[in-house]
Amino acid sequence: MRQYEHTLWGRMYASADGSVRDLWIPSLGRAKKSRPAAELAAVAQVMAYGTPTPRRKARTEPPPTATDGRDLPDLVRVFDFGCADGLFERLLAEGPAEAKQRFEDDGAPAFRAAATGAGTRPGESCVECKAIAGCADLKRTPELWGGKPQAVARSRQSVSAWDLRLYGECPAQYHLVRQLHLNDLSAEGAGARRGRAVDTLLNERHGERPVRGCRERQSLDTAGIRAKTGLDDASAGEAAGMLAEHRLFCPLNGLANDEQVLVQHRVTAYVPELDVVVLAVPDLVHTYRGRWIWRETKTAARPLWEGSSLLRSYPQLALGVLLFHAGALGNDPRRSWVELEHLREGHGESRLERLDPGRAENVDEARAVIAELAQPLLDDTTYEPRTGRHCHGCQARTWCRPGTAYVTDHPHPGVPGTGTTDRGDTHG
Ligand SMILES: [Zn+2]
Repeated sequence: MRQYEHTLWGRMYASADGSVRDLWIPSLGRAKKSRPAAELAAVAQVMAYGTPTPRRKARTEPPPTATDGRDLPDLVRVFDFGCADGLFERLLAEGPAEAKQRFEDDGAPAFRAAATGAGTRPGESCVECKAIAGCADLKRTPELWGGKPQAVARSRQSVSAWDLRLYGECPAQYHLVRQLHLNDLSAEGAGARRGRAVDTLLNERHGERPVRGCRERQSLDTAGIRAKTGLDDASAGEAAGMLAEHRLFCPLNGLANDEQVLVQHRVTAYVPELDVVVLAVPDLVHTYRGRWIWRETKTAARPLWEGSSLLRSYPQLALGVLLFHAGALGNDPRRSWVELEHLREGHGESRLERLDPGRAENVDEARAVIAELAQPLLDDTTYEPRTGRHCHGCQARTWCRPGTAYVTDHPHPGVPGTGTTDRGDTHG
């Protein structure tokens, strides 16, 4: 028989008479307003019926026996605390009987599934996973971009298009935002909010079954978008223009019922010689008459910039080409496409670009693009700040003295190169 122990992490307090127990869970940015039902159930159960224990030295030491029922508290409370702004949210306040019920309803089924489940789900957790060597479900893609292993041994790292972009702008930004998860709580810019709203509306529509192309749907007007997304009038109007443009380019237009359509599908690959997990979430992946098609959709204020190649301007396309080429989606690379849908507000201003991962010159360029971006990231150990226009939109600027000074000296952001909103920014 296997014995399981439920434990809690956080700041725990009890009133002197033992009638009230509190748990404060710190969150790095703002306090979370809610947590998954199973998590709250597990927390309530331990708070009500658990007992304080010193940290045990060895895993083999038996856990202490639980409270025998005589010292139960009357009330347990759980708070989420925002370390960045000092505000908190109360997540629950209840007695042991309610906690027990909650655990039976929401906690036990989740615990049973976790304790008996044997499936694998490759993704971000592969970075910390100790069983990666024996995992058959994580796709191996050796020499994905031909990177060089590091001279010094380091722990496993992950690489996504978002990581590459943040690092390319500034190593310190990447380190603070992606590795330390620091956030200055500043509000998203209007462009990013609009991009996220378009993103959400498209995912919602593309995720509906049976599959239907957006051309066959009624278009959303400004008022409808405002109501659904909370955007202001101007942004909702721009989003309406972009969605109208998308109706022409929708990859699902006229798609047969038996084709596969995967919205925000997670693609994970492992580069063994670098000990790197590659993570990508294409906006849409679908089949079309035996082909696999990877579609990235960008919303933009400005036209597609012609000064640089598509793969260079959008490294996620380069990652898509390489992952397809390596067969990371279980596909035949000679029968796949990577597409960029570049949406603008004005009628007829949007574009659809297509790249063939079966063509050697595309693969070579994609390798060069990713190698150039990924190698410095993987080799870096100091993450020095590099100031520039991106400081204006940096989520970690509060924590960065050079960035703060740069913005003071350059109060206007200037003209961005491509002016696009990266839908990938909304992940993670
Ligand atoms: Zn569509």
